[in-house]
Amino acid sequence: MKLVLLGPPGAGKGTQAASIVEKYNLPHISTGDIFRKNLKEGTELGLKAKSFMDRGELVPDSLVVEIVVDRLSEGDTANGYLLDGFPRTVVQAEYLNDFLEKNDDHLDYVLNIKVDPNVLVERAVGRRICKDCGATYHVDFNPSQVEGVCDKCGGELYQRSDDNEETVTNRIKVYTDETSPLIEYYNDKKLLVDINGQKDISDVFTDIVDILGE
Ligand code: ADP
Ligand code: ADP
Ligand code: ZN
Repeated sequence: MKLVLLGPPGAGKGTQAASIVEKYNLPHISTGDIFRKNLKEGTELGLKAKSFMDRGELVPDSLVVEIVVDRLSEGDTANGYLLDGFPRTVVQAEYLNDFLEKNDDHLDYVLNIKVDPNVLVERAVGRRICKDCGATYHVDFNPSQVEGVCDKCGGELYQRSDDNEETVTNRIKVYTDETSPLIEYYNDKKLLVDINGQKDISDVFTDIVDILGE
């Protein structure tokens, strides 16, 4: 199964991705995670991406498609994958489409997680992430049992430097301008399924399983 998760920053893509890849045994391909890993390791790609990420702008398409095509060419993707945070522009989507067609392949679903814009800032600013395993929490909506400590692995929780009100507000604008055209793009291809992202985390997942099958 080949899936794309679409939705504005804070919609719950990463949170649902964790459950989806566990249940369906798919590799989770998050471009944001790939950039953050490169930043942490101080690679050239990380350095190039940093200024865009800090401002809440998109990293240029040329950089993004290269890393995704590399990642999709790895062996573990043969039976499927979940793309989270990619594509984010029509150019990226066209690139993915060409890559799939070249391999006589296609996407199965694009899950469009819909959330009222006025809850997005609150969600992203309250987000906390485990330094060790990447699990996502929220200070109010999905708190860890012990503050600042990951339930799953005991790792320390941190706040992403781009999860501040100013940057998040810009990321939402960038989403509206550059990413939301993908809703129509994938609707035209009959791949789009809307998911109500405003239910409880577990209920959102139940709705996704209803679509993907048990
Ligand atoms: P995205 O990957 O789309 O940016 P995340 O999955 O990281 O979003 O979620 C953003 C924040 O909102 C996180 O702190 C997460 O715990 C919280 N969150 C995710 N889904 C829900 C939900 N259904 N209800 C309330 N909070 C949620
Ligand atoms: P969120 O889901 O909260 O918006 P991500 O972790 O997906 O955050 O992305 C963080 C940042 O990484 C984005 O603001 C952007 O700068 C960069 N980024 C991630 N994926 C892409 C992409 N497909 N195209 C361009 N930039 C990207
Ligand atoms: Zn952890």
